[in-house]
Amino acid sequence: MAFCQVIVDIAHEDVDRVFTYRVPKGLELCPGMRVHVPFGRKPRIEGVVVELVDSCDLPPERVRDVADTLEDYPAILPQMLELAREIKATSFCTLAQALRLMIPAQMRGERISEKTKEYAVVTVDPAVRGQVLAGQKRAPKRAAVFERLISAEGGELSCEQLKSEIDDYRPALNALVKMGFVRLEKREALRSPYGAMERLAGEDPVLTGQQEDVLSRILPAVDEGRGAFLLYGVTGSGKTEVFIRAVRRAAQQGRTAIVLVPEIALTPQMVMWFRSRFGEDAAVLHSRLSPGERYDEWRRIRRGDVRVVIGARSAIFAPLENVGLIIIDEEHESSYIADNTPRYDARELARLRCEKEGGTLLLASATPSMRSFALAGRGDLTLLEMPRRVKNRPMPEVHVIDMRRELAQGNRSVFSGALLDGLKSCLDAGRQAILFVNRRGYSTFVSCRSCGYTVTCSQCDVSMTYHSSENVLRCHYCGEERPVPSVCPECESRYIKYFGTGTQRVEEEVHKFFPDIPTIRMDNDTTRTKDAHEQLIAAFRRGEARILIGTQMIAKGLDFPNVTMVGIVAADAMLKLPDYRSAERTFQLLTQVSGRAGRAEFSGEVYLQTYDPGHYAIESASRQDYRAFFEQEMRRRKRALYPPYTLIARLLYEADREQDAQSAAESAMRQMEAFFERRSYLRKYVVSLRVMPCPVKRIKGKTRWQVALKIVDKPACREAVGKMSEIAQTPLEGCTCVCQENPSSMM
Ligand code: ADP
Ligand code: ZN
Ligand code: ZN
Repeated sequence: MAFCQVIVDIAHEDVDRVFTYRVPKGLELCPGMRVHVPFGRKPRIEGVVVELVDSCDLPPERVRDVADTLEDYPAILPQMLELAREIKATSFCTLAQALRLMIPAQMRGERISEKTKEYAVVTVDPAVRGQVLAGQKRAPKRAAVFERLISAEGGELSCEQLKSEIDDYRPALNALVKMGFVRLEKREALRSPYGAMERLAGEDPVLTGQQEDVLSRILPAVDEGRGAFLLYGVTGSGKTEVFIRAVRRAAQQGRTAIVLVPEIALTPQMVMWFRSRFGEDAAVLHSRLSPGERYDEWRRIRRGDVRVVIGARSAIFAPLENVGLIIIDEEHESSYIADNTPRYDARELARLRCEKEGGTLLLASATPSMRSFALAGRGDLTLLEMPRRVKNRPMPEVHVIDMRRELAQGNRSVFSGALLDGLKSCLDAGRQAILFVNRRGYSTFVSCRSCGYTVTCSQCDVSMTYHSSENVLRCHYCGEERPVPSVCPECESRYIKYFGTGTQRVEEEVHKFFPDIPTIRMDNDTTRTKDAHEQLIAAFRRGEARILIGTQMIAKGLDFPNVTMVGIVAADAMLKLPDYRSAERTFQLLTQVSGRAGRAEFSGEVYLQTYDPGHYAIESASRQDYRAFFEQEMRRRKRALYPPYTLIARLLYEADREQDAQSAAESAMRQMEAFFERRSYLRKYVVSLRVMPCPVKRIKGKTRWQVALKIVDKPACREAVGKMSEIAQTPLEGCTCVCQENPSSMM
C-alpha cells in the first residue's frame, strides 16, 4: 500500500502539519505534485505532496484517498520545497503560506488553465493517402477535409484553420478520426508578453578594462558554482554588460540564471537588452503581465525551455532547475523585501538558493545598501569595484543650490536661477533634460497662511493632496476626495493655498519659462494604463519631448544618451521622513538620479536644489562619494542603535474602536514582557520595548496602536521577533494585527 504526506492549502496554524492520504491504484505521484484531497467535511481541497511513504500508523478507516492530481508533473521542485521550509522557519509563517509563493497565484483554485489549440493530424502513410481520399468519394465533405489536410504542410492543420475554410467541417472530421485516418491533438498555445517590445541589435561590445577585471573574478566562480560578490560600480560603469557575460557563461556550462531587478516595468531597457541577447532563452516575470501571460511564462520556465529569468522580487521563486547564477541589480532597493506575511528578503533567499544549488551570487549597485557593504567589509561578500564610467566618460558635475538664499533674494519660483540657466543652455545645445521631483514626503497639501489650518482626511490622520488636473483634494491612503476650499474653513481667510511641489506644478512652471518646448510628465497619474510607462519612455527616447518631468519612477536604470542635464527640484524632501533610512534613501536617490546625466558622448550637469546643503547625505551625494557617506551613516547608526546594529520590529493593531486596538496592544505588550521574563539571557539586548498609539492615529477610519521593539541584532534575538509574529497570528476581537520587521515607516 502506498501513502503520501500532504500539506493542505489552508493557511492556519492548526493545520500547519502534514496529513496522510492513501494513493489509489493507478495514480502516479511524486513529491512536489499538487493534488486534490478530501479534508474534514470538504470533499476536495488543494494540497501539495511532500513525501511518499510505504506505511501508515493510522487505522485504515481513518485514512482517505487522494482524489486526483492537478498537474501531471511536480509544480514544486524539491529545492523549492526546501526553500519553503526555510521561509517557514525564518519568517514564522505556515508551510502552506510559504508554498503559495512558489506558484503563480492564478494556479491556485484553478482560476486559470492552459490555453490549448486543437490540431487535426493525418495518420496514414503518404503512400496510401491517395487511395484513402478516393475511398471517400461518396462523402464529399469528408473528402474535402481530408484533401485539405494532406495538402497542408506536415499533413496537419489547426481546427481553427479548418473551420475558417470549410463550413460545418466538424462531423466530417469526427468521422475521419473514427475511421483512424486522422487524429486530434491538443497543443499548448503560449501567450507571449513581448509583442510591443523594442528590439536592439545584439552586437557584443568590446569589454572595458574594468569589465574585464571584474569578469576575471566572476567567471571562474561561475564555472565552479560558488562565490558571493558585491559589485559596486558607479552609474554608467557598464554593469549590464557584466551581467550578460556572466549569464552567458552560466548557460555555456549548461546551467541557468536568475536576474532580479527592482520592478521590471521600471527598467524596460533591461528586459529589452536580455531579450535581444538571449531571445527565446529568456523569460520575464513582472507585475504587469496578465494572469495568463504570467502563467505561461511560468510554464515555459518549469518545462526547462528557458535559460535565464528576469524579474522582480518574486522571480526568486522561478521554477528553474540547475541554477548556477543569481544576479540582483540595484541591490539596495527596498522592494526586495516583501513586507506582508510571509515576510522575506529576496537577497537572503538568493543566497540560500545559491548555497543549496551550487551557484554564484552577484549583488550589484552604484549605491550598495549599508548591510551589503558592511558584509563586504567583513569578507562575507567579495567586493568588486568599477569606479569609472565606460570609456572614461566623466561623472556629471553637480551644482548644489541653496534654496534658502534664493528665497531671501526674492525668488519664489520652484526653480533657482542656476537651474534655469542650466536648463536653457542644455536646450540651446539641442540636448534633452530630466527634471526630477521627489514626490515622497513633499506632496502638495493645502494650508492656510493666516492660521495654519491644513485640510486633512476625515478618515485618516493625514493631509490631503492637491491634484491640479482635476482640481480636487484626494487622500492618498483611502482615496477620499474633496473640493478645494476657497476660504479657510477655520478662520475664513482667503490666503489658503497649496504648498509643496508636485510634478504638475513643475510642468506648469516649465511651460511658463519655455512655452515652445515639448515635455513629458511621468507620475502615478500619467502611467495608470498598461504600457503607458514604456510608451512615454520610448517617446522621450525618440526625442518627441525635450524635457522629461517625473517622480521616483524615472530615477533608476534608464539610459538616455541625449540627456545632459538633470535638475533635482527638491533634494531634501525625503530627508524629513520619520524613517531611520531616510538619509540612506536620499543619498541613493540623488546618486541614481544624477547618474542619468551625461551617459554617452556629452558630459552631464546636475542642478541639485536643497534647503539643507550641509547635510552629509546631500553633500556626499553631490560629490558622488559613496564611501564617505557609508562611513558617516554607519557611525550614526551605531550611535543611535539602528539597523544593521539592531533589529526593529513592531506589532501594529488596527480597530474600529479605539479601546479594542489599545487593549489588544497592551495585552501583546504583557505577553512580550512575560517572554523576556522567561528568556532572561535576552534581556540585556533589549534597547527598548514600548506600547503606544501610532503617530498617525487613524487610517481609513481605523484607530491604530503599536508595540515597538528594538533589540541588538544577534542571531538569538530573532527569537523575540518570532514571538511577535506568533502573537500577531492570534486573532483578536474586533482587531487586525500585523508584525513588521524594520518597517519602512513607523507612522
Ligand atoms: P550601469 O548599469 O552601470 O549604470 P549600463 O550598463 O547601463 O551602466 O552602461 C552604461 C552605458 O555604457 C550603456 O549605454 C551601455 O550600452 C554602454 N556600455 C557598457 N559597456 C560598454 C562597452 N564595453 N563598450 C561600449 N559601451 C558600453
Ligand atoms: Zn485659516
Ligand atoms: Zn483618507
